[in-house]
Amino acid sequence: MTLKNEKAVVCGAGGFIGGQLVKHLISNGVDVVRAVDIKPLEEWYQVTDGVENLSLDLKDAQNCVTAAKGSTTVYQLAADMGGMGFIENNKALCMLSVLTNTHMLMAARAEGVGRFFYASSACVYNGEKQTNPDVVALKESDAYPALPEDGYGWEKLLSGRMCRHFEEDYGLICRVARYHNVYGPHGTWNGGREKAPAAICRKVLEAKNSGKHEIEIWGDGHQTRSFMYIDDCVQGTRSIMESDIDEPINLGSSELVSINQLVDIVEDIAGVKLKRNYNLSAPKGVNGRNSDNTLILEKLGWEPSIKLRDGLQKTYDWIAGEMASGAAGK
Ligand code: NAD
Repeated sequence: MTLKNEKAVVCGAGGFIGGQLVKHLISNGVDVVRAVDIKPLEEWYQVTDGVENLSLDLKDAQNCVTAAKGSTTVYQLAADMGGMGFIENNKALCMLSVLTNTHMLMAARAEGVGRFFYASSACVYNGEKQTNPDVVALKESDAYPALPEDGYGWEKLLSGRMCRHFEEDYGLICRVARYHNVYGPHGTWNGGREKAPAAICRKVLEAKNSGKHEIEIWGDGHQTRSFMYIDDCVQGTRSIMESDIDEPINLGSSELVSINQLVDIVEDIAGVKLKRNYNLSAPKGVNGRNSDNTLILEKLGWEPSIKLRDGLQKTYDWIAGEMASGAAGK
């Protein structure tokens, strides 16, 4: 289905996925009327011309009304988030995103918005199903009985349920995607909120550039994950928004690797071999996690398919460029 005469608002547009989504929507002919983020404009990862770019705190209910006004679709990606190091140490802050999600849903309803997209996460899944690196991929029903990631995951699960009830009770059509580890250019690569692919690229580059051929790895390196390249993420987001999928759905790659294998790939790209120092007391998250893509294949006839090696090459090159240009980072 194509959404007719869509007027889109992207929340969290100053961040990684939001910034890329604005560009993707525009290149697909969508009229993006507004892009919103709490950060001052000069700190946005990308600013797109021809869009009303607003710096607003969306925890505030009135700001959400300003954000939603005149739109037919809302893409709600604004959240306080980061990699494991961030979410394990900022649980209250992560849960406060419930204000943003609640107020954006209320504003969307009040302003007569037709559709609402919510960026949920694989962190909603029951931790007891992720204790083994040799994983059984997570299917959507594995969110219950609920035992999500403390803080961040609980908030994502609750807000996803709120979307469901806003649809059932108020008729606001909601689409909820559970993203699995997204990476790519224009993502956070230092400063404490970065996730594993960007962190590994940066650390390998630092080791290569300094000549100190060592790398610190969080955990024992055997923990497994799948990583979705940003182009697959924005394409999937758009397709899910346009679809009739009424339930939360996985949006992730099913190419499973261990963190050690991730380091192998980045070393290969960089042309170096590093001594690995395992920090067993660092936050490492669950032991294993992969995306079961049965439902998305059934509903869309599509799944994220960009190979990790290809996406990492682009990410590595971009981070190398940022470091070479002396960019302070994101
Ligand atoms: P990001 O941190 O780069 O972007 C999120 C943006 O939201 C930031 O720019 C931040 O300033 C903004 N924001 C935070 N609080 C706000 C507020 N009160 N008002 C307005 N803006 C606010 O993160 P991202 O990787 O682009 O993630 C986007 C969404 O996808 C988030 O909801 C995140 O939880 C979800 N998600 C991301 C991943 C991933 O791997 N990147 C995985 C699962 C889910």
